[in-house]
Parts: sequence; C-alpha cells; structure tokens
Amino acid sequence: MIEHADAAIEKYRGFELAYRLLKDDNLAYLREKSRAYKKAVRELQELILPAVKAECPQCEYGTCCRLYSSKLKIYIARSIGGFDFEDFLLARCDSKFPEPDLTNRARNFCAFWDNGCRLDAGCRSLLCLGFFCEPLQNRLEMDEVNRKLAVVQDVVENFSLLRLFHNE
Ligand code: SF4
Ligand code: SF4
Repeated sequence: MIEHADAAIEKYRGFELAYRLLKDDNLAYLREKSRAYKKAVRELQELILPAVKAECPQCEYGTCCRLYSSKLKIYIARSIGGFDFEDFLLARCDSKFPEPDLTNRARNFCAFWDNGCRLDAGCRSLLCLGFFCEPLQNRLEMDEVNRKLAVVQDVVENFSLLRLFHNE
C-alpha cells in the first residue's frame, strides 16, 4: 500500500507542476471546460448531499475516504484525491486546492481528508464522485444520480489534452 501511496503522491506532484506551467493560450480552453466540469459536479453533489448528511455521520466504517479497508475498495492508486490527469486539470483550474496532508497516510486516510473532504464541492475527482455505498444507493434515486454523473463523465471525455497542449 505504501508503494502505491508514494506513486500517487508523485503523480499528483507531476499534475500540479504541469498545471502551473500552462500558458494563457492553453488556459482559455481549460477554463471553458473547467467551468462545465465544476457546474456538473456541483449539480451532482446537490442531489446527493441530503443522503450523505443522513448516512455518513452514522457510517459504521467511519468514512469511505480510507486508502484501503477490507470492506471498501476506494484504494487511491491514481493520484492523491483519486484524480487522473484530465479530471485533475478540470478541477484544479482557477481553484485553490488545500495542501495534501501526507501524514494521513499513516492513519490510512486520503491526504485531503480531515473530518470530511477538504476539497471544494465542485473539485472532486471522478473516482470519488462515482462511489456510492449501499446505504447511499438505497436512499438515492440512482437513475437521476447516474444521469448527473454521466454529464460529468461527458465533460471529461470531451476534454482533449491534445487540444490543451497543442491548441489544436
Ligand atoms: S458514503 Fe457510505 S461508506 Fe462513505 S462515509 Fe458515507 S455512509 Fe460511509
Ligand atoms: S478526495 Fe475527498 S472525497 Fe475523495 S477520498 Fe479524498 S477526502 Fe474522500
């Protein structure tokens, strides 16, 4: 697990560096897509929030934001926060991310966790957005949730790294 966590940290640092190196020409395209991503993510979050508020405080696991548990498999093997490069850029653009707390690893928690997720509600990764435990699924109208999730996925799928880096 430590090995995977180290790789996730390394990846996250690379993503952050790449974002900081983007020039104005590239940023214009990213900003347009980022606005669409955050809007879609917030709409999804609004839909699921009442169920999260009802279930999570009494969750028997304490939180699903652990790197690993025997019952839950949200294993952060991508980068910190579960990001791939595309959704990282879309979430990170013009948003301030909190400093990852790498000491969380020793407690088996995501580096963005501190009694809840420290990322802005519009800045979550697709991995985090796509997880619904059974109690949440029972409370939610999953057809509607899946429609909203599909809008987020669609923004990511239509975001072109080639266009971003080469203005194509
Ligand atoms: S989403 Fe489900 S597993 Fe995660 S903290 Fe809430 S109730 Fe627990
Ligand atoms: S990024 Fe936030 S929601 Fe995702 S695992 Fe980490 S603390 Fe949980």
